[in-house]
Amino acid sequence: VASSLSKSRYIVGLQCAKRLWWTVNEPDAPELTVDTNAVALNRGRQVGELARQHVPGGVLIDLPTWELDARVGTTAQALADGASVVYEASFKAGGGFASVDILERGRHGFSLIEVKSTLDVKIEHLPDVALQAHVLTSAGLDVRHIEVMHLNRECRHPDLSNLFVRERVTADVLSLLPEIPAKLSELHQALDGPLPVVEPGPHCDAPYACPFKGRCWPEQAEHHVSTLYRIRAKKVAKLVAAGVETILDLPEEFKASSTARRQVQSVREGRVIVEPGLGKALAKIKEAIAFLDFETIIPAVPAWPGCGPYNQVPVQLSCHVLEGGALQHHEWLADGPGDPRELFAGALIAACEGAETIVAYNASFEVQRIDALVERFPDLGRTLKKIRKRVIDLLPIMRDHVYHPAFNGSFGLKSVLPALVPGLGYEDLEVKDGGTASALLEALLLGGETIPAAERPEVRRKLLAYCERDTMAMVRLYERLLALAAANG
Ligand code: SF4
Repeated sequence: VASSLSKSRYIVGLQCAKRLWWTVNEPDAPELTVDTNAVALNRGRQVGELARQHVPGGVLIDLPTWELDARVGTTAQALADGASVVYEASFKAGGGFASVDILERGRHGFSLIEVKSTLDVKIEHLPDVALQAHVLTSAGLDVRHIEVMHLNRECRHPDLSNLFVRERVTADVLSLLPEIPAKLSELHQALDGPLPVVEPGPHCDAPYACPFKGRCWPEQAEHHVSTLYRIRAKKVAKLVAAGVETILDLPEEFKASSTARRQVQSVREGRVIVEPGLGKALAKIKEAIAFLDFETIIPAVPAWPGCGPYNQVPVQLSCHVLEGGALQHHEWLADGPGDPRELFAGALIAACEGAETIVAYNASFEVQRIDALVERFPDLGRTLKKIRKRVIDLLPIMRDHVYHPAFNGSFGLKSVLPALVPGLGYEDLEVKDGGTASALLEALLLGGETIPAAERPEVRRKLLAYCERDTMAMVRLYERLLALAAANG
């Protein structure tokens, strides 16, 4: 067992001693195989490097993380040589080990600066910074100021001079220091003993989702009450405490929204429930119908004019146009790091041309992106607004009229598709969800060499296949809804 706890292990231990125990004693546990999210790594690296440019002229402790002693020694040497700023300054003292993103020497002591890729200081940042402050003060450093340096939501490309905000958290962090030595020794003791006994509870998801939930949480029964549409965690806890485990056990007088009531009925009767108004709701959708889906990226560091940190930018679309039983497919995917928005808007206009109705699933997502394009390109405003006006959202039509027992309380495309259109899923694709698509798109367009040039055509193919599946799914769902409406008169 290590004699010094690193910052990340301390944070894990604060959440749960059992999680820490498994993390340290089973480093090869399958739960700990980090999915190599190149984008997240790249993002952290990019933000870290830009942060250093905002506090320039420092010495970087450029040694591998596992060479603890060498890092500590090089840091001590840099400080002895009078460095005014040290990046990745490393210390080992007081039972802990910490690398400080930026250590700045002032006239009266040091400023400890922790860089975060967030838009605010978050409560969970404080124990993390507190451990660093504890290690530094234990090492004899005079730490006067403690700061979190985070991204600034007011910043707009191309002016990145105000990309960061430096926020002082000295008082908040100092108030946490007294409890750290006891906590550290408690965690060291826990690590020296057998697996700690910790009951699973809300702490398993706060502030971070624990990877070991599969070991601690019992498998949920089918139609568990937690799958009831939009039920709150508190209500679930109350029901479970009263012995109500599944939707089938709910008492007759249980109060629920009309959607949840439809779910209960569907689960009890083991069949699809279709409301009589479905046909009327679908009648608003008129041919030619463009089934539309966007994929977006959300870069931490703004890349294009007018964008701020984490602005969502559409970079890919798929559109299936249905008319007279025939389907036509349009698709567009940005290429390279240039601003994709105007070309995207052009591709959108071309794809929707001649469509009477534009169908999206959870359409507010597409509508918001179109609104942003209108703002950005006033010349295209009229045409884009016409597109926006013709958008109909298929999700509320589904939610208000149809329930299949296999929806499990969710109306997301990925939940309703396998239930209503068996055989058409995402399993045969390499990119199976929007999060993966967004990460790959960001790597492809802004990640430099994150994806080598030779692999890019293949990545593009996978992304195109994924987005195409989303709109094909909508076409098949729409057809299935028409059939359900016809069968239910
Ligand atoms: S699932 Fe909960 S109880 Fe189990 S190790 Fe994780 S945080 Fe601890």
